[in-house]
Amino acid sequence: MPAPTLADVLAALDALWPPELAESWDAVGLVCGDPSAEVGRVLFAVDPVQEVVDEAVRLGADLLVTHHPLYLRGTTTVAPVGPAGFKGRVVHDLIRGGVALLVAHTNADRADPGVSDALAAAVDLRVTGPLVPDPTDPEGRRGLGRLCELDAPLTLAEFAARAARDLPGTAAGVRVAGDPDATIRTVAVCGGSGDSLFAEVRAAGVDAFLTADLRHHPASEARQAGPPALVDAAHWATEWPWCEQAAGQLDEISDRHGWNLRTHVSRAVTDPWTIHAPSDPAAQQAPSLAPNPNFPSSSTGAPR
Ligand SMILES: [Zn+2]
Repeated sequence: MPAPTLADVLAALDALWPPELAESWDAVGLVCGDPSAEVGRVLFAVDPVQEVVDEAVRLGADLLVTHHPLYLRGTTTVAPVGPAGFKGRVVHDLIRGGVALLVAHTNADRADPGVSDALAAAVDLRVTGPLVPDPTDPEGRRGLGRLCELDAPLTLAEFAARAARDLPGTAAGVRVAGDPDATIRTVAVCGGSGDSLFAEVRAAGVDAFLTADLRHHPASEARQAGPPALVDAAHWATEWPWCEQAAGQLDEISDRHGWNLRTHVSRAVTDPWTIHAPSDPAAQQAPSLAPNPNFPSSSTGAPR
């Protein structure tokens, strides 16, 4: 059986994550690569950053599949110079290394199975359906986020510890908002930034929401409005399980077609946050009660 062409592999992957499911603002699909080229080795990763491209070239991959787009907006140059030269460098290195780049972003979020199914499976949750069903899906299985159940209830502290243990490690770790002793039976999950889905999460009546990138105001207002508890992991960590799911899906397709593809999942931690310096909330005191030596008052002279 001859090796498949890039066009063959793309057709198979487009069936898994139909490009028409992507949001209108998104930029999914083939970024570079010759559709007539043969494909033998495929690398999956979350981010099309230099470290991952270097890994793809080193591996001899013919195709790199990433979740995040390289270019989300238009560009007039792929020169590897200037403020966005790092993206041009990626394009040059991919083409020189014979590596095609395919992006499956919000189409992979909405697909069945999608990014949030992989997140749910990673923390051992049973998916019962989408959080925001796709109205074009008569079976009601596609959509944004997933509603899930735990096989046995956990406290919020235990569930957060499970997420921290089962998702890939990052400096950011997992932040939690809520009563640590609260009982968690049902969870909404959304891989990547989930703070646009608070209304749907509240309407679903779940005990907790596992997602990423929660900002102060939406999180504060969500907590003031009552349950659910919030479990906020690193963006990259919530989407990385999709890479393994996607590689497994392509392995199955390869077996079915006799393609003999080699699939790999990048282990590079491409979350941009690299250091987490915990502070002690119990140590905080109002500055008027306990002057902070690091912030001298105006009478003690110039700041150091
Ligand atoms: Zn993302």
